[in-house]
Amino acid sequence: MSSDYAEYVRRTALRLPTVGIDIGGTKIAAGVVDGEGRILEQLRTETPHKSKSPKVVEDVITELVLALADRHDVHAVGIGAAGFVDAQRARVLFAPHLSWRNEPLQEALSDRLGLPVIVENDANAAAWAEWRFGAGAGEEHLVMVNLGTGIGGAIVHGGRLERGRYGMAGEFGHMTVVPGGHRCPCGNRGCWEQYSSGNALVREARELAAAESPVAQPLLDRVEGDVASITGPLVTEAAQEGDPCAVELLQEIGQWLGLGLANLAAALDPGRFVIGGGVSAAGELLLAPAREAYRRNLTGRGFRPEAEIFEAELGNTAGLIGAADLARGRARRFRTVKRARVERAERVSRTGVGRRRTQWWTPLER
Ligand SMILES: [Zn+2]
Repeated sequence: MSSDYAEYVRRTALRLPTVGIDIGGTKIAAGVVDGEGRILEQLRTETPHKSKSPKVVEDVITELVLALADRHDVHAVGIGAAGFVDAQRARVLFAPHLSWRNEPLQEALSDRLGLPVIVENDANAAAWAEWRFGAGAGEEHLVMVNLGTGIGGAIVHGGRLERGRYGMAGEFGHMTVVPGGHRCPCGNRGCWEQYSSGNALVREARELAAAESPVAQPLLDRVEGDVASITGPLVTEAAQEGDPCAVELLQEIGQWLGLGLANLAAALDPGRFVIGGGVSAAGELLLAPAREAYRRNLTGRGFRPEAEIFEAELGNTAGLIGAADLARGRARRFRTVKRARVERAERVSRTGVGRRRTQWWTPLER
C-alpha cells in the first residue's frame, strides 16, 4: 500500500516553481526550485542575531522572496529551520539560532506574501529532498542522519515524512549512547551527537592536539600550533591527504555512527540510511568504519537483511530543495507572489495611507 502511495506522490506532484529557504546559524539561503528539484537561482544573506525580534527575520525572508519573485514565478514558500516545528507545520516552537518561541511563522508570512507557506524542521526538509531527488530515491523506508555540529535526523516512510504526534520525531542525536558520558547542551549526558558529529570530531582532535601527543603533530603543523584553529573540514582534509591521526579520528566518529545506526535499525528497520551534513563530506573515511560497526552491533545480525548506508547526494542545498518541494504540495497554479501587492499591503498596514476610505456609495447597514 505504502509503495503505491509513494509512486502516487511522484506521479501527481505539481511542477510549479517554489521558493525554499534554509535558515542556518550564520546564513539564510533562499532559492527558486523547479519540479525536478533543480535550483534556478539562489540568494544568501546573514542570519539576524538571536537578540533581534522575530519581525526582523520575517523582513529578511520577505525581501529574499520578493527579490527572487522579480525574476521567477513563485507559487509557494517553504521554510526549513533548525528547531522544533509543530505537527501542523505552522509554528516554530523553539529555534536555537533565533528568537522564535512558539512563533506563528506560517500565518505571519503567508499573510504578508499572499501565498501558501509551510515551515518544516531542517532535517525533515533535507530528508524529503534526498528521498525525492537524491540518495534516498526509490526507498520506501528511509532514515536520514545529518552529522553537522550536532545530529539531526528524519524518517520518510511510504512517501510521507514521519513527524510523530507533536512534530518532534527524528531527534536521534539525543539518544543516550554512553550513560554518564559527555555533557550535552540538551541537559543530558552521553547523547549520540556528543560522540558522532562535527563538534565531536573537533573536540577529539583538539583534545589530542592539546595533550601534545606526537601523533597529532602533523595536524598541529597545519594550524601552526594553534589548537583552537583545528576545525572539522581541516581534519577531513588531513585525512584525505593520508594523515593517519586524522584518519583515526574520523574512524572513531564513524564507529559511533555505526553503533547509533544499529540502534535505529532495531527501532525502525529502514531499508536505507542516508548520511548527510558537513561531516559526511569525508565519504568512505567515515562510512566504511560506520558500516563495520553497524554490522557488529546490529540486532539479529546474520539473520536479517541489512539496510544500506549511503552518502547524501544533495549536499548543503538539501534543506532548501526539500522545503521548496514540500511547499509545492500547497501551491496554486494561478497564484504567484507580486512585489507591488506585497509592498502596497505593507505600506497600508504601516501608515494607513492608501486604505480605501473614500466611498462614493453608501455601504449597506449590517
Ligand atoms: Zn543531548
